[in-house]
Amino acid sequence: MAERYQVVIVGGGPVGVALGVELGMRGVSCAVVERFPEPQRIPKGQNLTARTLEHFYFWGIVDELRAARVMPNNYPIAGVTAYKHLMNDYWYLPPGRETVRSFYYEQNDRLPQYCTEAVLRRKMATLPSVTGLFGWNVESVEQDEDGVRVEIVETSGERDGYAWGGFAAEQDEPFSTGGERRTLEADYVVGCDGARSLVRETAGIASSGEDFDQKMLLAVFRSRELHEAFERFPEVTTYRALDPALQGYWMFFGRVDVGEGWFFHAPVPNDATPDNYDYQALLNRAAGFEFRAEFDHVGFWDLRVTVADAYRSGRLFIAGDSAHSHPPYGGFGLNNGLEDIANLGWKLAAALQGWGGESLLDSYGEERRAVFWETGQDFIAAGIRSDREFLERHSPEHDRAEFEEAWERMGRGTRVGTYEPNYEGSPVVWGPPGGVCSAHGSHTFTARAGHHVPPGVLSTGRGVHEEFGEWFTLLAFDAPEEAVAAFESAARELNVPLKVVRDTLEESRAAYESRLILVRPDQYAAWCGDALPSGVGAAALFARAVGRAEP
Ligand SMILES: Cc1cc2nc3c(=O)[nH]c(=O)nc-3n(C[C@H](O)[C@H](O)[C@H](O)COP(=O)(O)OP(=O)(O)OC[C@H]3O[C@@H](n4cnc5c(N)ncnc54)[C@H](O)[C@@H]3O)c2cc1C
Repeated sequence: MAERYQVVIVGGGPVGVALGVELGMRGVSCAVVERFPEPQRIPKGQNLTARTLEHFYFWGIVDELRAARVMPNNYPIAGVTAYKHLMNDYWYLPPGRETVRSFYYEQNDRLPQYCTEAVLRRKMATLPSVTGLFGWNVESVEQDEDGVRVEIVETSGERDGYAWGGFAAEQDEPFSTGGERRTLEADYVVGCDGARSLVRETAGIASSGEDFDQKMLLAVFRSRELHEAFERFPEVTTYRALDPALQGYWMFFGRVDVGEGWFFHAPVPNDATPDNYDYQALLNRAAGFEFRAEFDHVGFWDLRVTVADAYRSGRLFIAGDSAHSHPPYGGFGLNNGLEDIANLGWKLAAALQGWGGESLLDSYGEERRAVFWETGQDFIAAGIRSDREFLERHSPEHDRAEFEEAWERMGRGTRVGTYEPNYEGSPVVWGPPGGVCSAHGSHTFTARAGHHVPPGVLSTGRGVHEEFGEWFTLLAFDAPEEAVAAFESAARELNVPLKVVRDTLEESRAAYESRLILVRPDQYAAWCGDALPSGVGAAALFARAVGRAEP
């Protein structure tokens, strides 16, 4: 007898479990199937953006997440870049994500990925509609008009604490099957099954992008000596060396704690193995001196920047690393994966509750894929190329004065402010004419359709985001009552849950420059204006926002 769920999530890494939380909180019945009982003990996605912390706020676990951090409270999440190695006199400390902090409801944070996963798993366990199947491997996924069938088999064997199974990893982690078998049925399946996604393969979705044909080393180690040597810098968490011989690929140390825990990644020859390659020598080269390290893990991965050609095929969706594969440069992986599921979760729930249309489900890929394509190309791959060009063009040996000027300029630059994913061109957003979905944007407190709604304070003193409803919210600042009533009646007609938050322009401290803002459940604005646009009723506005035919 098959067990029936509304959604089966394949893969219980951070993105799969977070989707379980998102759907479970929306009352959707789902199963999360993960082949390993425990998360990997590799720190990986540590650098969590302010936007990611907002998701944890809405999941009700932001305090738990902050309590799980390993670094001391308020330890600066910033990074030093040095020329050639980290004992060099040429180094800079560029402005980081703190420059956009005020545009989000939460502050960014940093903790090992397995700590984040533990917080998510604990939350998921409290949600009655979610079943966690840890220690089960998905063997096949088959869809037809009526639903999806998922065959799973129990696995055995403990995970090697530090085994490497991350994106584009060279080998999959070993596990054995042969236990009990079960069949699950669902309306939808979401593949959160990482870079070697079975769901993506089953759906016949290809990926495109750039293979840099470069093998990378990842080491997790402990060294107090390194910690002491880096006391030459202000307190920071990451240390990057740009060596001209490495063509723009980084040698990168990241703190796991303050004292002795580190991870390191850097390019290595394509035939390197843990047995034939002197990785301690590579660490010494990056640090700029010889030091002792005790290794917990050494692994390899291939540097690629690829994005799936579609995020949906019928009843199958993909999210997280199964949809995009890239190096950890810039910390885009986990943050983007969690934004994927914040975007997809409410849309799946809306479709299952009957008020979300097919084009709402399609809009998930239209919004998120476009953002990641540009993230991969314009922020990650272009960053490698621009570092490469810089190192080819400027050198202290060739022209010291010119190098110093260029190095100083580079240290001042930050692209953090221009990374502002938005869905202006989405089919479910009333964006500007000619708008496109893009990773490029700007930060402002003005509300804009297709953009994240920035913070504001209501006349009660409460943050606007604290008043957001679970589903759609209409923010109404001295708005015409007929317009508000029209939205309420359209919501009733379409069966869309809507919360109206009223305030006065004079007393509130929100700088949205719009009297009416229709906010989606993922805190993006579907529409904003001072009054209903002429010739367009609230019913039409709302219908588009939920992917239904406009009356
Ligand atoms: C060194 C390093 C540093 C990084 N730093 C950052 C950072 O600072 N910020 C950031 O945002 N990201 C960072 N990342 C990226 C981040 O770790 C990944 O983006 C993140 O792990 C993706 O999560 P996921 O759940 O999509 O995939 P995964 O973590 O790969 O999880 C997929 C899960 O699916 C399971 N699975 C696969 N197939 C099946 C199957 N058939 N049946 C059952 N289970 C299956 C796997 O066992 C796995 O647990 C970093 C990565 C590395 C390696």
